[in-house]
Amino acid sequence: MTEESISGFGSVTPGVIVKTAKKVRTPAYLIDEGVVSDKCDILLSMPNAYGLTVLYSMKANSTRRILQSVDKKGLHFDASSLNEARRLVLVGVPYGKIMLTSQEVHNRSGRDKKDLENMMMHGLKYNVCSLRQFNSIANFAAINKINLSMRVHPGVGSGESSTRNTGDKYSCFGVHLSDIKDILKIAEEKTVVFDKVHVHIGSGGDQKKWEENIDRELAILKEYFPLADTINFGGGLKEARMPNETAADIKKLGLYAKKRIIEFRENDVYKRELTMEIEPGTYVVANAGYIITRVIDKKRTGEDGFNFIITDGGMEVNTRPLLYGSQHPLYVVTREGKQLKKNTGEFVVVGRCCESGDSQTLDEHGHIMPRKMPEPSIGDYVVMGGAGAYCLSMCLSNYNSHVQAPEVLLNKNGRLELMRKEQTLTQVVQNEI
Ligand SMILES: *Cc1c(COP(=O)(O)O)cnc(C)c1O
Repeated sequence: MTEESISGFGSVTPGVIVKTAKKVRTPAYLIDEGVVSDKCDILLSMPNAYGLTVLYSMKANSTRRILQSVDKKGLHFDASSLNEARRLVLVGVPYGKIMLTSQEVHNRSGRDKKDLENMMMHGLKYNVCSLRQFNSIANFAAINKINLSMRVHPGVGSGESSTRNTGDKYSCFGVHLSDIKDILKIAEEKTVVFDKVHVHIGSGGDQKKWEENIDRELAILKEYFPLADTINFGGGLKEARMPNETAADIKKLGLYAKKRIIEFRENDVYKRELTMEIEPGTYVVANAGYIITRVIDKKRTGEDGFNFIITDGGMEVNTRPLLYGSQHPLYVVTREGKQLKKNTGEFVVVGRCCESGDSQTLDEHGHIMPRKMPEPSIGDYVVMGGAGAYCLSMCLSNYNSHVQAPEVLLNKNGRLELMRKEQTLTQVVQNEI
């Protein structure tokens, strides 16, 4: 009988956990390449009308080996900074597969501006997110006849929490509807063409909100962008990390978008057959990832207190609970490689940082919320699931002078590959003068 995976999907078994923990030190990140591959397949087969491009939003996990794996699947890339774009170039991703959507403004001559222009000459798509960004690039785009994309701020958004809503008035991503006309006027004077419209409303919001965005964005494209042939609906496709969550229904969203894009063509004076783009990060990698921690201590806080499990990895390896009140599944695997499944008590799982908020069991207000789970012994593993997105890439690694944890890949052949070495203390202090 083959061993069951700890989460009920993918190939990470209790045996793989123990093997990984023996290969590197804990805490450690582990990515199941097979799950990444399956998610890419689901996204690539999303129903569409006149063509689909799937961009991987690399800020979710930007380790080289992951980028290579996703590149091989045929996805393009959403970069959130010039450095992210540079990382893609280092990996060998063709410029034509990269779109840059950032808050940065490269308006002063210097290396950044030169690099950006060089990348655009080679095919990188620049997604204009503000008037100032537009002004910094407009002449260059006009002279070289490079078409641009515009990220529109629709005034409405959706996300799992207010800090992950990127479309309403409390966030400032993209060109607000009230500023579009100003930019388009200058663009017309300079003969700069916007051939793509982009909206990203936030991370992990409702399916319904995503559908509403499709309608809203098509209307914006119709009203303001007569030369656009591509519509990018952004990312934010919800993944179900916890058992009580529901993932976005990719097929259903695709069918909805397809219907609307066909209707758009029928009513459009130019009879445009729009290419559709999506750019998920979370959906591609979240459930492929695990963080392996080891139980180093147990404490209690009195009769009316709590039972604490102290592990060797907390907020510095996964900041999401503290940042958003995110819940991650917690699996218990014994030292001997047996998964404990029976909940035997309520526990508060904490890390080793000097912060009372360093807990993996918090609610959205930052209050501790004991979790019903099996009781691990000292030396057993507590494994966080749903940890492939925004964990390593967003971690507070050097707080308390902890080193950044290593990252391992369980590749499609079932072998463990070290993708990123554990940082050393020498590296932590090396830039101090
Ligand atoms: C972060 C981001 C995404 C990806 O969001 P997910 O919730 O990880 O899918 C897509 N597009 C843009 C512009 C982003 O900033």
